[in-house]
Amino acid sequence: MITGTIVNYYFHCKTQMWLHYHKINLEDNSEDVRIGKVLHEISETKVDEVSFEGIKVDKITKDYVVEVKKSDSDIEAGKWQLLYYLYILKQKGVEKKGRLEVFEKNKQDKKRFVIELTEENEMKLLEILDDIEKILRSDTPLKPKFEGKCRKCAYYEYCFL
Ligand code: SF4
Repeated sequence: MITGTIVNYYFHCKTQMWLHYHKINLEDNSEDVRIGKVLHEISETKVDEVSFEGIKVDKITKDYVVEVKKSDSDIEAGKWQLLYYLYILKQKGVEKKGRLEVFEKNKQDKKRFVIELTEENEMKLLEILDDIEKILRSDTPLKPKFEGKCRKCAYYEYCFL
């Protein structure tokens, strides 16, 4: 099943997306994931996590689906993850805007971005979902390509050592 995390990883790293989907799961050891979990626990006092069909949304208000991210390093990935949630909700007859709330590391401040599932975004999302399915059907992950973000990735050893 495609999840919001899968859509996020499609933008962050397609190798990571494949590894995560195929449950080659090393992520619990990652410092970044640990920080994310702690931040999430703190956030939980203020937000109401909503789960449906394998999707976990941080909060749904009258007008917005809210997704909270621990860092502003990959806003594009967060944006498409949120658009995926808006799309799934729309399939169920619920139409809302998205609000991406992004913490900067070691800072209290949050940036907020309003995201809308326009016709153009929806068309693009459908193309992305098609591409995700193609990649996930492959028997092997895409060959990893080293980038700066790899040093902090839980799969670093898997990919490069
Ligand atoms: S180490 Fe780099 S290439 Fe490998 S999964 Fe992580 S981000 Fe992707």
